[in-house]
Amino acid sequence: MSSQIIFPRMMQIGADASLEITKVLANLGCLRPLIVTDKMMVELGYVAAITQQLTQQDILSDTFAQTVPEPTVASIQDGVIKARDGGYDCIIALGGGSPIDSAKAISILAVYGGEMKDYRFPRQVTEQGLPVIAIPTTAGTGSEVTRFTVITDESNDEKMLCLGLGFMPVAALVDYKLTLSLPPRITADTGIDALTHAIEAYVSKKASPYSDSQAISAIKLLAPNLRTSYHQGDNHQAREAMMLGATLAGIAFSNASVALVHGMSRPIGAFFHVPHGLSNAMLLPAVTAFSIPGAPRRYADCARAMGIADDRDTDQDANQKLLAELQALNQELAVPTPQQFGIKREEFFALAKTMAQQALASGSPANNPVEPTVDEMITIYQGLWD
Ligand code: NAD
Repeated sequence: MSSQIIFPRMMQIGADASLEITKVLANLGCLRPLIVTDKMMVELGYVAAITQQLTQQDILSDTFAQTVPEPTVASIQDGVIKARDGGYDCIIALGGGSPIDSAKAISILAVYGGEMKDYRFPRQVTEQGLPVIAIPTTAGTGSEVTRFTVITDESNDEKMLCLGLGFMPVAALVDYKLTLSLPPRITADTGIDALTHAIEAYVSKKASPYSDSQAISAIKLLAPNLRTSYHQGDNHQAREAMMLGATLAGIAFSNASVALVHGMSRPIGAFFHVPHGLSNAMLLPAVTAFSIPGAPRRYADCARAMGIADDRDTDQDANQKLLAELQALNQELAVPTPQQFGIKREEFFALAKTMAQQALASGSPANNPVEPTVDEMITIYQGLWD
């Protein structure tokens, strides 16, 4: 059986890759970009660094900096109008997963119209909107190389998963130096997100030999560098490994899938406004414990790639070490429980069934080594309180 593999047409990876923006635009034949970003990127001077490169080559650009973390339908509306009416021939998406996902949505809506919910899963979006050139500033989502965007419908608090070749950026400029400014909390949340992508891609029912190779390479880069980048934000070696690991993990899950952690994490984000990486981190140990019986060898491979087990360990021993490590990681990176995050137990329990149903509808749990029932997902949600 063969597997379809997709990624951007062009990637520029390494220190100062983002400063190669004009060469990338020239290669793509793009002349009039709209920069889609957030206010933090303006404050950090990252937007100015890009526009300076553009100006030096007489490339006229505009900036839409109103994207918000965990983007909503309303948050991208002005961006759609600007992109539609401004005569742009491409979008430069600069920021974490939120600006990049916003840019992907804007790219399609500006050209084809309609509402975001028209493009949600299970539709496969193959339309080609304005080409997106993605420059990630978190080592987390891998959105720069994925065929996904996640936009929250605030009318029913649902994080809509939208997918298809139409959401694949045409180019990715992966510059780890942009992540040196990440504070420890966001470093941890986004780093665990990347590790979750790699693990879920590897254990996914949709995994292939190609996605396996990317997932294992990603785990080998991410696992030993997550703690270092959290404690020593200015460690270039660790930041570079995390950034490359996050991108490889993105390639892995975009060509396989995510699974139960992501399926159950999106509703927590939508209802309780928990950042995406953090809700993944809250769930990763419990969902891994639930899922190991469906793919014990594969989870043991993950433990060995993380460097916490070796070939002398039985798969069972390796999996015990994996569970212990995921819990230790959450503790060391100060991942809060839902309660510590400020969520009220009664509200969480009252919504557990709705969250489980939303998770199921997203399609992600079906890719898990153990396919859960709604009741089993409710039990996992409730278990986060024990
Ligand atoms: P984010 O983009 O929401 O950013 C989080 C915060 O970090 C923001 O306040 C941002 O301004 C700040 N920030 C970003 N880069 C920074 C830097 N270099 N220095 C200092 N501050 C910085 O976070 P994220 O985790 O990258 O993205 C989360 C979003 O991505 C969610 O909406 C999630 O659903 C989505 N997501 C998408 C995919 C995909 O394939 N498209 C995959 C996973 C997650």
